[in-house]
Amino acid sequence: MFESKEDISRFGKKIMEYITHSGACAVGVCNADSLEGGPPSADLTREMPSAKSAFVFAVPLDDDIIEAYMGKIDPGKYQSHYIRTNIVAEGIASSACHFLRGQGYEAQVVNAGNTTSGGDGRDVTPQNDSQRAAAEKYPTTDIDMMIGTIPVLSQRFLAAAAGVGYFGRSGNILTSSHGASVVLGALVTSMELEATPPIPHEENYCDNCNWCEAVCPTTYMSRTENNNVQLGEMEHTYSKRMHPGRCASYMMGSAGLAENGKFSAWGPGRKTMPKEDDQVLIKLIEISTDMANRPQTPGGFVNPPDQGEKRMNINCSACNLVCHPEREVRRKRVKLWTQGGVSVQHEDGTLESMPREEAEAFIAAMTPERRALYE
Ligand code: SF4
Ligand code: SF4
Repeated sequence: MFESKEDISRFGKKIMEYITHSGACAVGVCNADSLEGGPPSADLTREMPSAKSAFVFAVPLDDDIIEAYMGKIDPGKYQSHYIRTNIVAEGIASSACHFLRGQGYEAQVVNAGNTTSGGDGRDVTPQNDSQRAAAEKYPTTDIDMMIGTIPVLSQRFLAAAAGVGYFGRSGNILTSSHGASVVLGALVTSMELEATPPIPHEENYCDNCNWCEAVCPTTYMSRTENNNVQLGEMEHTYSKRMHPGRCASYMMGSAGLAENGKFSAWGPGRKTMPKEDDQVLIKLIEISTDMANRPQTPGGFVNPPDQGEKRMNINCSACNLVCHPEREVRRKRVKLWTQGGVSVQHEDGTLESMPREEAEAFIAAMTPERRALYE
């Protein structure tokens, strides 16, 4: 272990340099002070009781692969790229932990909830008085708990506090160089490091263009209400999330056709979500059952805790992939996504996007049993 603050700071900077040179486009450090006032999932000790600081970083996704995905040309390439980038992020975090342990500090990777490490079943309810007070300030719903949208530790809160990115209206973390088209990675350590500053409000590129909402096939971002989160000295604001089952159904691919009927995510389902939130869960059960009886889409996450035969595929993410720092790139991606057609599924499980009328004819030509799994 290092004796002086200077040596600790020097080693912390070296770890940040290692993370950058391993492929991250942004890296920072947060600690209890810079996360003070946040929700329970901003308490570093939830991941590791001895945690004093966290390194957090963003690994960019490939622009060409994103555009082939958003242009409804190639869903498989993006899916495997996304999975691989998650594994790279976890590998970087794991190596950084190794270096820290080598110096006598404890360190632990913070796995993202949507990677193969998800579903670890840890209790995400408040565990001590300070988390209980935080939970009163930031109440969660039973549905959030049930669907699993509350992580043990939120990489987004860590990234905002450490200045890796800024909360956009979408609720995604926007990095200065690659926008929200990144995979976040993080690790906690018992080393006591000084925090890096958050990105100042005036440097945030989010101009409320609302294109994250325009590409969303459902209603997930509130137009009228916001979430406000205090992290250290800075308050962060983004649109309030609506029922999490809406986004989950499109991400999983059980739903696909947009509520306006004009475009789709990559999911081949054509049943849309009801307007009333209290009906969403019933619909979610129906369309998840449909999906379980459809052929497996190629690729996807193999999730060892899930003993079923199906892999989990990625079918949306449009709100973060559209959000590039350059407005012209955002504009182009909105067009690609909303004018690229409607997704259908072939009997071998592959997905294809085609014009709306062709998609309707494709579905109409199915046997009634098969058609009922989609429409
Ligand atoms: S798409 Fe536009 S409104 Fe949405 S987060 Fe990005 S810049 Fe902000
Ligand atoms: S992932 Fe898709 S469904 Fe979910 S909020 Fe983003 S755009 Fe909407």
